[in-house]
Amino acid sequence: MITSWYNISADLPRPLPPPMDPYEGDSRIALLTRILPSDLIDQEFTAERYVPIPEKVQELYERIGRPTPLRRARGLERAIGTKAKIYYKFEGALPGGSHKLNTAVAQVYYASMDGAREVVTETGAGQWGLAVAIASALIGINAKVFMTKNSYMNKKQRVLFMRVFGADVSPSPSDLTEFGKKTLAKDPNHPGSLGVAISEAIEYAVGGEGRKYIPGSVLEFVLLHQTVIGQEAMQQMPEEPDLVVGCVGGGSNFSGLSFPFIGAKLMGKGFERTRFLAVESNAAPKLTRGSYMYDYPDTAGTLPMIRMYTLGHDYVPPPIHAAGLRYHGAAPSLSLLVKDGYVETRSYGQGEVMEAARLFAKSEAILPAPESAHAIRAVIDEAKRMNGGTILFNLSGHGLLDADAYERVLMP
Ligand SMILES: *Cc1c(COP(=O)(O)O)cnc(C)c1O
Repeated sequence: MITSWYNISADLPRPLPPPMDPYEGDSRIALLTRILPSDLIDQEFTAERYVPIPEKVQELYERIGRPTPLRRARGLERAIGTKAKIYYKFEGALPGGSHKLNTAVAQVYYASMDGAREVVTETGAGQWGLAVAIASALIGINAKVFMTKNSYMNKKQRVLFMRVFGADVSPSPSDLTEFGKKTLAKDPNHPGSLGVAISEAIEYAVGGEGRKYIPGSVLEFVLLHQTVIGQEAMQQMPEEPDLVVGCVGGGSNFSGLSFPFIGAKLMGKGFERTRFLAVESNAAPKLTRGSYMYDYPDTAGTLPMIRMYTLGHDYVPPPIHAAGLRYHGAAPSLSLLVKDGYVETRSYGQGEVMEAARLFAKSEAILPAPESAHAIRAVIDEAKRMNGGTILFNLSGHGLLDADAYERVLMP
């Protein structure tokens, strides 16, 4: 079992730019310290290389099925005729079907330690909401989830399952908050957006006793919790990988897998020849086409600004099925590593990604999440080019609740 999380900010080539307040308006940093569990605030700013995982969270990791399997994709290797060996870490094996539970159990635990009776969050496609619902059921506190109305209508299964675990799910915009009411007054048929949902979740968290807000990606402590993935992979891999690949929404699953390896490389403890490749969607290409600057992590500008690759916090991505990759920015530590050339980047379109998803499904007998299929697309392209060598990638989730994405595959 892994007993501490790895904090890459201790080993970065230069200091991580801290979160910042805008020049005008209320302090967002003060707001953040009010709504987040206090241990998470500490973790956001700590320079400690290893952060001990509380015993209770270690126990929860065991209960949800950690360590997750590391598998060799022999079927995929044969299907593409490569001499490279391909390994993947299967985070879809966790309850809920994605890596998000790794940070959900930690965050809900810290909220409960702060005396919270309810955690509040937003969700787009619903993977994060479902992870929070499961973690809250395990720990025994309430979960309140604001889900973008469009997804609420289209991802009925995730809504249903969140409720089975006891979560209270509202389509956003809702009439539970002033911001929601204002949005509905302007447009009664507003389809919802992550920005509106975040604003509603924060307003709701601030507006009641015993409530804490918890986020699903982008913040540094989320990446920190996900490093259990890479630390396990390091123990499980039979050899050093030449290439480590993951998909990027806000950056948590890619960083969770790759940071322990990148950290070892930065410390001079092996992996000298290992390359790292972050794969994003053409629908939100912040790493390949965005700017490195201070920007808000949320559309409404409620949270402190962070220095990251961003397309602008008001960027409206075209609707794509891999909803988890529609985010406008990428976490500060990952952005810095991209900026300084330690991590390579690439973006793909929906068609070529779903084609890779189907090949993986047929050759490995696992239906991948459309998000994870971006990593698979890159792995296939790289493996075809490599003459031997070893690839490791993160299968961040399974796609069994993503019928809408697969419908597209079968269309002529
Ligand atoms: C949320 C999600 C992502 C994208 O988020 P990151 O924070 O970049 O990891 C990728 N894959 C799956 C399965 C997800 O649920």
